[in-house]
Amino acid sequence: MDELRFACDAMLGRLARWLRLAGYDVSFDPDVPGPALAGQARADNRWLLTCDRELAGMAGPRALLLRERAAGKQVSELRGRLPLAAHPSRFLTRCSCCNGLLEEIGREAVIDRVPPYVATHADRFVACRGCERVYWPGTHVGKIVHTLETWFLA
Ligand SMILES: [Zn+2]
Repeated sequence: MDELRFACDAMLGRLARWLRLAGYDVSFDPDVPGPALAGQARADNRWLLTCDRELAGMAGPRALLLRERAAGKQVSELRGRLPLAAHPSRFLTRCSCCNGLLEEIGREAVIDRVPPYVATHADRFVACRGCERVYWPGTHVGKIVHTLETWFLA
């Protein structure tokens, strides 16, 4: 089965971040107007996710109109309509800011890019291939994973 890919409309920034955290390929650019976004999503073979009834109507068969407003409920609405098949091994493999893929990098490569305490004490580091942001496991990661498990796997 082909992996599901998404394009989120300007209203769905939070959902876009959570889908990326779960490992999905999600385009999000609030500056692109609706009709252009629908065209891009089609060309790029993405499901268009939107809160805009009119846009959903003109976007064709691979558009989903979401009625919920909270990100967690939107995920559950999405799971009710598409086979999301999320998997924990894909959690936190993508940059929530830019959708780039993350890859492991060594401590010596991050020395100048993270706070000194982190450079010394964090166990491992990943960097985004897109925006080059560096991530490391911190106290908030457990919380994010817990939310992902609740929203995508429960
Ligand atoms: Zn990035």
